[in-house]
Amino acid sequence: MRITVLSGGVGGARFTRGLRALLPHAEVTVIANTGDDMWLHGVRVCPDLDTLMYTLGGAVHEDQGWGRRDESRRVSDDLQAYGLGWDWFTLGDLDLATHLARTELLRAGLPLSQVTARLAERWQPGVTLLPMTDDEVETHVVVEDGRAIHFEEWWVRYRAALPARRFVQTNLAAATPAPGVLAAIADADVVVIPPSNPVVSVGTILAIPGIRDALRATAAPVVGVSPIVGGAPVRGMADACLTAIGVETSAVAVARHYGRRPDGVLDAWLVDERDASAVPDLQAAGWIARAVPTLMTDLDTTADIAAAALALVDRLP
Ligand code: GDP
Ligand code: CA
Repeated sequence: MRITVLSGGVGGARFTRGLRALLPHAEVTVIANTGDDMWLHGVRVCPDLDTLMYTLGGAVHEDQGWGRRDESRRVSDDLQAYGLGWDWFTLGDLDLATHLARTELLRAGLPLSQVTARLAERWQPGVTLLPMTDDEVETHVVVEDGRAIHFEEWWVRYRAALPARRFVQTNLAAATPAPGVLAAIADADVVVIPPSNPVVSVGTILAIPGIRDALRATAAPVVGVSPIVGGAPVRGMADACLTAIGVETSAVAVARHYGRRPDGVLDAWLVDERDASAVPDLQAAGWIARAVPTLMTDLDTTADIAAAALALVDRLP
């Protein structure tokens, strides 16, 4: 059984951990958003890849959902004494070792996909972890005065409270999917869009030329799990991202935004029990849809959510 997951950070990582618990022998490939990546203090930081690697590798700070457990911040604090870097973005000391290792390998000439594979040798995430692209595509946010700031600055520094006009990806037109990405979509038995930010995580992956078409064309069913529960994000500020692109914050609106195949990318959409009233509308519009509890409160519950998603498209062994 080959399962391909299109993921952002925390939500997608937790879902994939549940999927692995459900089907330990499945061949899982995770295509990660790298639009949040940035250069900081001369090192390449890849927030979503690292969240996936640490979560699936058993090293994540559980309460926080990202970063390393038993982390400290001495280097970051000391750098601030020089007035350098971004005082609103903290790099943990252990996390910094990952960024240093990544940067050393990038500088040696390896593409990000190979660097990611190399870092994953240590963490053994139990999945094939692929960046969406080897190219440096970064999400920037155009705010009201017309300035474009890095997504992480908008998200972390301004807590998504600066009204956003739109999101742009640098370098997008020239970007190509990383090696293995298109094949993982084409050759999958099922493709899953986990609860991830539909705009700046999944939306960015879909924007890489070729990826959306691969989803439209694959013989595998594509099933998504709504990140919007009862009209609000479960955590984070996905509502601000949806508002910026003119999409209502609701499970149905996100499904419509993704669209139904073959024009869109989804065949099936799993919503939370609180949004059960949306199921008939979704079904009337041609989707396979169902409502179940979708809060990933612990590993067993998350495995149940993964099972419900696969069952929706008859891919539960
Ligand atoms: P990142 O960590 O910021 O890169 O976040 P993701 O792209 O993974 O997106 C997280 C999304 O998943 C947010 O929109 C959350 O509302 C959603 N989410 C987080 N936890 C849960 C959960 O337990 N259940 C569901 N249904 N959605 C969740
Ligand atoms: Ca992210």
